[in-house]
Amino acid sequence: MTDCIFCKIVKKDIPAKIIYEDEEFLVFNDIKPIDKVHFLIIPKTHIESLLECDETNLEMLGKMLLLGKNLAHQHGLRGFRTMINSGAEGGQEVFHIHIHVYGGSEKLAKI
Ligand code: AMP
Ligand code: ZN
Repeated sequence: MTDCIFCKIVKKDIPAKIIYEDEEFLVFNDIKPIDKVHFLIIPKTHIESLLECDETNLEMLGKMLLLGKNLAHQHGLRGFRTMINSGAEGGQEVFHIHIHVYGGSEKLAKI
């Protein structure tokens, strides 16, 4: 996916504040944070969204969630939120699957 902005971040073609990287995943700060801490977890492989996932992606999805928890703790968050926007009608703007992890505000907006 040559025109995918997150694939470009994986290839280091465009910069991002990377906070974690391994063979499978990349984690970087959201460019427009909605909280004191706000990062995005992506698989290095291009998958458009949760809508494209099935049972074969269970391990990847589980690993992403646990990575989010561990990195949230490392960033001093005792509690945090996770969000996955799926499809244009689900508010997705970048079509490379990602989990938002954010927190740190004193006051939590109720959703
Ligand atoms: P979503 O609506 O879930 O697709 O959200 C995409 C997120 O990616 C938004 O929160 C953007 O602020 C973020 N984003 C877009 N481009 C970049 C970038 N180059 N580096 C970091 N975050 C980005
Ligand atoms: Zn991509």
